Amino acid sequence: MFKIKSEVGFDMAHYLCGYEGKCANIHGHRYRLVATLKSETLQESGQCRGMVDDFTNFKKALKEIAEDFDHKLLIEDNEEGRELAAKLEVLPNNFDIVFVPYRTTAEEMSRDVFNRLKSKGFKIYEVELFETPTNSCIYTEE
Ligand SMILES: [Zn+2]
Repeated sequence: MFKIKSEVGFDMAHYLCGYEGKCANIHGHRYRLVATLKSETLQESGQCRGMVDDFTNFKKALKEIAEDFDHKLLIEDNEEGRELAAKLEVLPNNFDIVFVPYRTTAEEMSRDVFNRLKSKGFKIYEVELFETPTNSCIYTEE
């Protein structure tokens, strides 16, 4: 069994719909995204012989995902989220808002990242998303 890991980081603000308490504010995190690919065997020919996957391709895919989130404000695409966005959009700040079809938790985001890597054909095993240096969510389908 082989597992390879790669990591990227990004800064992002989010809003948790329907949350009461300190995190009800729009706030941000420095996210650390660690993804793991897994394979029983290594590739036997071509450019990737002796590899699970090319780290360059793997890293590039992670960087593209990080770019989608970096310095954005993530808001759930529901009534509450749309209302908040409408209020922000009247301000002259040009907020860069990304709507997602889920509550903007580390759990949902890690599943989203997992599925994006899977749809790109990677042998994805696990995605770990750190919201703080000591809090993370691991999503895996095994
Ligand atoms: Zn948060």
